[in-house]
Amino acid sequence: MKKKRSIKKTLVRLSVMPAVFIGLALTAISVHSLWIGMTEEISNSLSIAANSLYNTYSLVAPGDYELKDGVLMKGEQQIEGDYKIVDALKESYGMEITLFYGDERKLTTITDEAGNRVVGTKANPETVHWVLETGRKYFSEKVEINGENYFGYYIPVLNKDKSIVGMAFAGVKRVDVMYSIRDSIMQSVLICVIVIVATMLVCVVASQKIIEALKHITEYLGYLSQSDFSQKMPKIVLRREDEIGDMGRYAEVVGKSLKDMITTDPLTGLYNRRACKSHLDKWIEKCNKQKENRITVGIGDIDHFKKINDTYGHDCGDMVLVTVSEIFRRHMGEDGCVARWGGEEFLLVFEEDVKASQKRLLSMLEEIRNYEFEYERKKFRITFTFGLNGKIVGRSFDEIIKEADECLYRGKTGGRDRIVITTGKVIEL
Ligand code: GH3
Ligand code: MG
Ligand code: MG
Repeated sequence: MKKKRSIKKTLVRLSVMPAVFIGLALTAISVHSLWIGMTEEISNSLSIAANSLYNTYSLVAPGDYELKDGVLMKGEQQIEGDYKIVDALKESYGMEITLFYGDERKLTTITDEAGNRVVGTKANPETVHWVLETGRKYFSEKVEINGENYFGYYIPVLNKDKSIVGMAFAGVKRVDVMYSIRDSIMQSVLICVIVIVATMLVCVVASQKIIEALKHITEYLGYLSQSDFSQKMPKIVLRREDEIGDMGRYAEVVGKSLKDMITTDPLTGLYNRRACKSHLDKWIEKCNKQKENRITVGIGDIDHFKKINDTYGHDCGDMVLVTVSEIFRRHMGEDGCVARWGGEEFLLVFEEDVKASQKRLLSMLEEIRNYEFEYERKKFRITFTFGLNGKIVGRSFDEIIKEADECLYRGKTGGRDRIVITTGKVIEL
């Protein structure tokens, strides 16, 4: 069997998916812009430090950079081997500082695992190309020095004749930067996660209400499909002003029309045989449970009804059926049940014992007997014959009807216009 798909899952998926996508996109965008902002800030600080290195040497040691007997000089001063300036700059900027002569590290704060400065090592070819060959500043998010990755900033170092003789470098280890920005990224990821969860909750609650309303409508229609018209459409559905509310209202209208069509007789508006049977079944069950004859069933048939049809026409016969129905209904009020059993036969269920029922039926039949029908200025009266059965306990629906019917038959054969009771009593009117 094909697996039934739940609308609840579909709705939740439909509402949650966009929230997740938007949340993920927002997280990615905020992490990306945070990254851009951070790298720009790092690049600016590194630029300041690299320029500081360049300017400090210009101030403290005027003159050109040159190698004298393989030793780096600045003007008259030997700067090679003297790390005071680079160490001081490292201290004040919190960055690694290097001065290159050509592509070779001559003064640096970067050390290897053994703690030795990595002097004499070379810059990578890309840096050499950008800085030494083209004379541009160069920032890299990932430059490898002595097996470690750095954010690095290089500026060209010039002599008085504007020739490029080396590079000033400032850098920070990537791991250190990552560590410090991890918290900021985590914060923004956390905010995004909270936004996603909040959106999901709002969506789930909103879709839950729709699902609930649809569930109520489905339940209502389910009862209708089993001819159970006792259920009401919940107010929560009827109060909705959207299409689901309309659906609920239409379902209710359909339910009411269906109920009328299935349970009532179109001519008289009384219950039809089917509806009356379902009511009577419940009463019989109750009486049998309580072992008490709490109801009385009467079946009545209009005497010589065929003659009315034959004399005054079928429409007149219909008018008679409608009129007697109204009389029965008025007398019964909210109690019991009146049904058109078929043709000119009626079934009455009294919610009282046979004695009280007989009294009540008598007053109804009196009224009908004395009622003067008028059709096309012709006046006439009618009479009824009734069979009354107050023996309910221990009997089935069919048995109860059969016994009442037998009384009715006896009434007809015995002269009509009377009530015959299963006790054997006959009341002639
Ligand atoms: P009895 O006293 O033995 O009951 O005689 P009756 O003439 O009433 O009985 P019978 O069964 O011979 O006739 C019943 C008539 O009721 C026949 C049928 O045409 C008529 N009838 C049944 N349903 C309707 C209806 O809806 N409208 C009208 N006008 N007549 C109906
Ligand atoms: Mg009949
Ligand atoms: Mg009849």
